[in-house]
Amino acid sequence: MAPTDPFYETKTLAQMTRSEWESLCDGCGRCCTLLLEEDDGSVWRTSLACRLLDLKTVRCSDYANRHTKVPGCVRLTPETIGQLGWMPDTCAYRLIAEGKSLPEWHPLRTGDPASVIAAGISVKGTLISEALVDEADQEDHITDRVL
Ligand code: SF4
Ligand code: SF4
Repeated sequence: MAPTDPFYETKTLAQMTRSEWESLCDGCGRCCTLLLEEDDGSVWRTSLACRLLDLKTVRCSDYANRHTKVPGCVRLTPETIGQLGWMPDTCAYRLIAEGKSLPEWHPLRTGDPASVIAAGISVKGTLISEALVDEADQEDHITDRVL
């Protein structure tokens, strides 16, 4: 490991600065997809987006207040990431926590935020807002099983 190696190859999540931590997010929006949990504990992904997700930018429209406005919005920390089995296996936080490298398409490697879209990882253009669907109809939008 050389002194010039990037932080995401040399530091653990707990060692990262705030800005390093924030830069790890590739902006894919996958963790802002509505998940449904059934009584048997199974978890299902839908094609619905959290109502706060800006579908054009695929970014949270009120990041600073997200936990107040959406109580179910996960609090991602070095301690909690290992307990979130539903987090996408492409998520940089999950990858680093599991001792893996960032993929070639990650914006920190490419220097281009759009590389996450070009790689087909972003949810851009694939979701509709949960605000447009009655809660009783959410199951109609299930796409696949997560857990
Ligand atoms: S899944 Fe991970 S990398 Fe993608 S938006 Fe969520 S926190 Fe960021
Ligand atoms: S509140 Fe924001 S960060 Fe949290 S799930 Fe919704 S869009 Fe994503």
